[in-house]
Amino acid sequence: MDILHISGDTYILPGATSIGIYLIDSNAYIIDTGIDENQIRKVYNYLNEKGISIKGVINTHCHADHTGGNRFLEKKGVRDFYSSNIEGFFIRYPSMITAFMFGSLPPKFMRIKMLIPEAIESTVRYDIPEFLRRIDLPGHSWGMFGIMTPDNVFFSADGIYSEDIVEKHPLLFHVNTEEFLETMKKLESINADFFVLSHGGLRKGISATVEKNIKSVENALSRILDLLPGTQDKIYSEILNEIGIAKEWEYYLNRVPFNSLITYLLSKDRIRVSLRENFIHLEKI
Ligand SMILES: [Zn+2]
Repeated sequence: MDILHISGDTYILPGATSIGIYLIDSNAYIIDTGIDENQIRKVYNYLNEKGISIKGVINTHCHADHTGGNRFLEKKGVRDFYSSNIEGFFIRYPSMITAFMFGSLPPKFMRIKMLIPEAIESTVRYDIPEFLRRIDLPGHSWGMFGIMTPDNVFFSADGIYSEDIVEKHPLLFHVNTEEFLETMKKLESINADFFVLSHGGLRKGISATVEKNIKSVENALSRILDLLPGTQDKIYSEILNEIGIAKEWEYYLNRVPFNSLITYLLSKDRIRVSLRENFIHLEKI
Protein backbone atom coordinates (compact mmCIF):
# COMPACT_ATOMS: atom_id res chain seq x y z
CA MET A 1 0.00 0.00 0.00
CA ASP A 2 1.20 3.52 -0.76
CA ILE A 3 1.77 6.59 1.35
CA LEU A 4 -1.40 8.66 1.47
CA HIS A 5 -1.42 12.46 1.65
CA ILE A 6 -4.06 13.67 4.11
CA SER A 7 -3.67 17.41 4.49
CA GLY A 8 -0.82 19.95 4.44
CA ASP A 9 2.28 18.16 5.70
CA THR A 10 0.48 15.16 7.20
CA TYR A 11 0.62 11.73 5.57
CA ILE A 12 -0.09 8.13 6.55
CA LEU A 13 0.93 4.68 5.44
CA PRO A 14 -2.32 2.73 5.86
CA GLY A 15 -1.98 -0.88 7.02
CA ALA A 16 -2.63 -3.23 9.93
CA THR A 17 -1.43 -0.29 12.05
CA SER A 18 -1.61 3.16 10.40
CA ILE A 19 1.77 4.89 10.48
CA GLY A 20 1.68 8.69 10.59
CA ILE A 21 4.20 11.00 8.93
CA TYR A 22 4.50 14.72 9.62
CA LEU A 23 6.96 16.73 7.53
CA ILE A 24 8.67 19.86 8.80
CA ASP A 25 11.71 21.67 7.33
CA SER A 26 12.69 18.66 5.15
CA ASN A 27 12.59 16.41 8.22
CA ALA A 28 9.93 13.91 9.22
CA TYR A 29 8.36 12.84 12.48
CA ILE A 30 6.82 9.38 12.51
CA ILE A 31 3.74 8.56 14.59
CA ASP A 32 3.94 4.86 15.59
CA THR A 33 6.01 2.32 13.68
CA GLY A 34 3.89 -0.83 13.10
CA ILE A 35 4.53 -4.34 14.36
CA ASP A 36 7.85 -5.05 12.65
CA GLU A 37 10.24 -3.81 9.96
CA ASN A 38 7.93 -4.39 7.00
CA GLN A 39 5.71 -1.31 7.13
CA ILE A 40 8.26 1.11 8.52
CA ARG A 41 10.84 0.11 5.89
CA LYS A 42 8.41 1.37 3.22
CA VAL A 43 8.10 4.70 5.03
CA TYR A 44 11.87 4.93 5.49
CA ASN A 45 12.58 4.16 1.82
CA TYR A 46 9.93 6.61 0.62
CA LEU A 47 11.37 9.45 2.70
CA ASN A 48 14.96 8.50 1.93
CA GLU A 49 14.34 8.70 -1.82
CA LYS A 50 13.01 12.22 -1.33
CA GLY A 51 16.03 13.23 0.75
CA ILE A 52 13.92 13.61 3.90
CA SER A 53 15.48 12.39 7.15
CA ILE A 54 13.51 11.05 10.10
CA LYS A 55 14.04 13.40 13.02
CA GLY A 56 12.01 11.52 15.61
CA VAL A 57 9.41 8.90 16.42
CA ILE A 58 6.32 9.55 18.53
CA ASN A 59 4.89 6.37 20.07
CA THR A 60 1.28 6.87 21.17
CA HIS A 61 1.71 3.86 23.49
CA CYS A 62 3.93 0.84 24.07
CA HIS A 63 2.03 -1.97 22.34
CA ALA A 64 4.07 -4.10 19.96
CA ASP A 65 1.95 -3.21 16.92
CA HIS A 66 2.81 0.49 17.49
CA THR A 67 6.49 0.20 18.44
CA GLY A 68 7.70 -2.90 16.54
CA GLY A 69 9.47 -0.80 13.90
CA ASN A 70 11.33 1.40 16.41
CA ARG A 71 14.46 -0.71 16.45
CA PHE A 72 14.67 -0.71 12.63
CA LEU A 73 14.68 3.10 12.66
CA GLU A 74 17.17 3.20 15.52
CA LYS A 75 19.53 1.05 13.45
CA LYS A 76 19.08 3.59 10.64
CA GLY A 77 20.28 6.34 12.97
CA VAL A 78 17.07 7.70 14.55
CA ARG A 79 17.79 8.64 18.17
CA ASP A 80 14.75 10.62 19.32
CA PHE A 81 11.88 8.43 20.49
CA TYR A 82 9.03 10.16 22.34
CA SER A 83 6.14 8.87 24.44
CA SER A 84 4.47 9.47 27.82
CA ASN A 85 6.53 8.63 30.90
CA ILE A 86 4.50 5.53 31.76
CA GLU A 87 4.47 4.17 28.18
CA GLY A 88 8.14 5.12 27.84
CA PHE A 89 9.02 2.68 30.59
CA PHE A 90 7.34 -0.21 28.72
CA ILE A 91 8.91 0.91 25.41
CA ARG A 92 12.37 0.88 26.96
CA TYR A 93 11.74 -2.45 28.76
CA PRO A 94 9.21 -4.25 26.51
CA SER A 95 9.44 -7.58 28.34
CA MET A 96 7.57 -5.78 31.15
CA ILE A 97 4.48 -5.66 28.87
CA THR A 98 4.05 -9.43 29.19
CA ALA A 99 5.34 -9.55 32.77
CA PHE A 100 2.48 -7.19 33.63
CA MET A 101 0.03 -9.37 31.67
CA PHE A 102 1.20 -12.63 33.27
CA GLY A 103 1.84 -11.29 36.76
CA SER A 104 5.50 -12.38 36.97
CA LEU A 105 8.18 -13.73 34.66
CA PRO A 106 6.15 -14.91 31.65
CA PRO A 107 6.66 -18.32 30.00
CA LYS A 108 8.25 -18.70 26.57
CA PHE A 109 4.91 -18.87 24.74
CA MET A 110 4.34 -15.22 25.69
CA ARG A 111 7.71 -14.01 24.40
CA ILE A 112 6.42 -13.44 20.89
CA LYS A 113 6.47 -10.57 18.38
CA MET A 114 2.74 -9.98 18.82
CA LEU A 115 3.33 -9.05 22.47
CA ILE A 116 6.95 -7.96 22.82
CA PRO A 117 8.58 -5.58 20.34
CA GLU A 118 12.35 -5.48 19.92
CA ALA A 119 13.79 -3.10 22.53
CA ILE A 120 15.46 0.16 21.57
CA GLU A 121 18.67 1.30 23.21
CA SER A 122 17.79 5.00 23.23
CA THR A 123 16.20 6.62 26.26
CA VAL A 124 12.58 7.56 25.60
CA ARG A 125 11.96 11.32 25.68
CA TYR A 126 8.80 12.90 27.13
CA ASP A 127 9.26 16.40 25.67
CA ILE A 128 7.17 15.87 22.55
CA PRO A 129 7.81 18.61 19.95
CA GLU A 130 5.35 21.44 20.63
CA PHE A 131 3.90 21.59 17.11
CA LEU A 132 2.57 18.03 17.60
CA ARG A 133 -0.13 18.53 20.21
CA ARG A 134 -0.48 15.65 22.65
CA ILE A 135 -3.97 14.81 23.88
CA ASP A 136 -4.06 12.17 26.63
CA LEU A 137 -6.24 9.13 25.88
CA PRO A 138 -5.78 6.72 28.81
CA GLY A 139 -7.79 3.51 29.22
CA HIS A 140 -6.67 1.28 26.36
CA SER A 141 -3.23 1.43 27.93
CA TRP A 142 -2.05 3.33 31.02
CA GLY A 143 -0.58 6.45 29.44
CA MET A 144 -1.66 6.44 25.78
CA PHE A 145 -2.07 9.75 23.98
CA GLY A 146 -3.20 10.95 20.57
CA ILE A 147 -1.44 13.51 18.38
CA MET A 148 -2.97 16.52 16.59
CA THR A 149 -0.78 17.78 13.76
CA PRO A 150 -0.79 21.48 12.75
CA ASP A 151 -2.95 20.40 9.76
CA ASN A 152 -5.78 19.54 12.18
CA VAL A 153 -5.35 15.81 11.57
CA PHE A 154 -5.80 13.80 14.77
CA PHE A 155 -4.08 10.46 15.33
CA SER A 156 -6.41 8.75 17.81
CA ALA A 157 -4.18 5.68 18.45
CA ASP A 158 -6.23 2.81 19.94
CA GLY A 159 -8.84 5.06 21.57
CA ILE A 160 -11.46 3.50 19.30
CA TYR A 161 -11.42 0.69 16.73
CA SER A 162 -13.04 0.31 13.33
CA GLU A 163 -16.56 -1.15 13.17
CA ASP A 164 -15.17 -4.41 11.68
CA ILE A 165 -12.81 -4.94 14.60
CA VAL A 166 -15.52 -4.13 17.16
CA GLU A 167 -17.77 -6.73 15.56
CA LYS A 168 -15.06 -9.39 15.47
CA HIS A 169 -13.76 -8.86 19.03
CA PRO A 170 -16.41 -8.84 21.77
CA LEU A 171 -13.71 -7.97 24.35
CA LEU A 172 -11.79 -4.87 23.24
CA PHE A 173 -8.35 -4.67 24.82
CA HIS A 174 -8.04 -2.12 27.61
CA VAL A 175 -6.64 -1.77 31.14
CA ASN A 176 -9.01 0.74 32.73
CA THR A 177 -12.69 0.54 31.72
CA GLU A 178 -13.71 3.85 33.29
CA GLU A 179 -10.94 5.74 31.50
CA PHE A 180 -11.47 3.76 28.27
CA LEU A 181 -15.10 4.97 28.17
CA GLU A 182 -14.20 8.54 29.15
CA THR A 183 -11.55 8.65 26.44
CA MET A 184 -14.10 7.56 23.83
CA LYS A 185 -16.43 10.39 24.85
CA LYS A 186 -13.49 12.81 24.78
CA LEU A 187 -12.62 11.68 21.25
CA GLU A 188 -16.12 12.56 20.11
CA SER A 189 -15.60 16.14 21.29
CA ILE A 190 -12.26 16.64 19.52
CA ASN A 191 -12.51 19.03 16.62
CA ALA A 192 -10.37 17.66 13.80
CA ASP A 193 -10.70 17.75 10.01
CA PHE A 194 -9.51 14.15 9.84
CA PHE A 195 -9.08 11.32 12.32
CA VAL A 196 -6.60 8.51 11.84
CA LEU A 197 -7.56 5.35 13.75
CA SER A 198 -4.49 3.16 14.21
CA HIS A 199 -6.68 0.21 13.34
CA GLY A 200 -9.30 1.56 10.99
CA GLY A 201 -7.52 4.25 8.98
CA LEU A 202 -8.74 7.64 7.88
CA ARG A 203 -12.10 9.10 8.96
CA LYS A 204 -13.78 12.49 8.63
CA GLY A 205 -16.27 11.93 11.45
CA ILE A 206 -16.11 9.35 14.21
CA SER A 207 -19.37 9.72 16.18
CA ALA A 208 -20.97 6.50 14.88
CA THR A 209 -17.73 4.58 15.45
CA VAL A 210 -17.43 5.92 18.99
CA GLU A 211 -21.00 4.85 19.75
CA LYS A 212 -20.28 1.36 18.44
CA ASN A 213 -17.17 1.08 20.63
CA ILE A 214 -19.04 2.26 23.74
CA LYS A 215 -21.84 -0.22 22.99
CA SER A 216 -19.30 -3.03 22.76
CA VAL A 217 -17.99 -2.29 26.27
CA GLU A 218 -21.54 -2.01 27.62
CA ASN A 219 -22.39 -5.38 26.02
CA ALA A 220 -19.33 -7.01 27.61
CA LEU A 221 -20.38 -5.65 31.02
CA SER A 222 -23.95 -6.95 30.61
CA ARG A 223 -22.68 -10.32 29.43
CA ILE A 224 -20.62 -10.71 32.62
CA LEU A 225 -23.62 -9.69 34.77
CA ASP A 226 -25.81 -12.24 32.94
CA LEU A 227 -23.34 -15.02 33.78
CA LEU A 228 -23.29 -14.27 37.52
CA PRO A 229 -23.13 -15.71 40.12
CA GLY A 230 -20.01 -17.80 39.64
CA THR A 231 -16.28 -17.99 40.13
CA GLN A 232 -14.20 -15.40 38.30
CA ASP A 233 -12.37 -18.22 36.46
CA LYS A 234 -15.63 -19.83 35.34
CA ILE A 235 -17.12 -16.53 34.11
CA TYR A 236 -13.88 -15.79 32.26
CA SER A 237 -13.90 -19.15 30.46
CA GLU A 238 -17.52 -18.56 29.43
CA ILE A 239 -16.48 -15.23 27.91
CA LEU A 240 -13.53 -16.92 26.18
CA ASN A 241 -15.93 -19.45 24.64
CA GLU A 242 -17.66 -16.53 22.95
CA ILE A 243 -14.37 -15.01 21.75
CA GLY A 244 -12.97 -18.36 20.58
CA ILE A 245 -9.27 -18.23 21.43
CA ALA A 246 -6.73 -20.76 20.12
CA LYS A 247 -3.41 -19.96 21.79
CA GLU A 248 -2.22 -19.95 25.39
CA TRP A 249 -1.01 -16.34 25.22
CA GLU A 250 -4.51 -15.22 24.19
CA TYR A 251 -5.77 -16.45 27.55
CA TYR A 252 -3.53 -13.96 29.34
CA LEU A 253 -4.08 -11.15 26.83
CA ASN A 254 -7.87 -11.24 27.11
CA ARG A 255 -7.75 -11.56 30.86
CA VAL A 256 -6.48 -7.97 31.03
CA PRO A 257 -9.70 -6.32 29.72
CA PHE A 258 -11.82 -8.96 31.49
CA ASN A 259 -10.25 -8.13 34.86
CA SER A 260 -10.66 -4.42 34.12
CA LEU A 261 -14.40 -4.94 33.55
CA ILE A 262 -14.60 -6.78 36.89
CA THR A 263 -12.85 -3.86 38.63
CA TYR A 264 -15.29 -1.47 36.95
CA LEU A 265 -18.36 -3.44 38.10
CA LEU A 266 -16.94 -3.60 41.64
CA SER A 267 -16.26 0.16 41.66
CA LYS A 268 -19.86 0.84 40.57
CA ASP A 269 -21.25 -1.48 43.31
CA ARG A 270 -22.85 -3.70 40.69
CA ILE A 271 -21.15 -6.86 41.97
CA ARG A 272 -19.50 -8.15 45.12
CA VAL A 273 -16.49 -10.39 45.48
CA SER A 274 -15.69 -13.05 48.09
CA LEU A 275 -13.08 -15.75 48.57
CA ARG A 276 -14.77 -19.14 48.89
CA GLU A 277 -12.80 -22.38 49.07
CA ASN A 278 -9.88 -20.62 47.46
CA PHE A 279 -11.91 -19.42 44.47
CA ILE A 280 -12.81 -15.80 43.78
CA HIS A 281 -16.59 -15.78 43.74
CA LEU A 282 -18.59 -13.01 42.05
CA GLU A 283 -22.24 -12.15 42.48
CA LYS A 284 -24.58 -9.32 41.57
CA ILE A 285 -25.64 -6.80 44.21
ZN1 LIG B 1 -2.75 -0.81 21.62
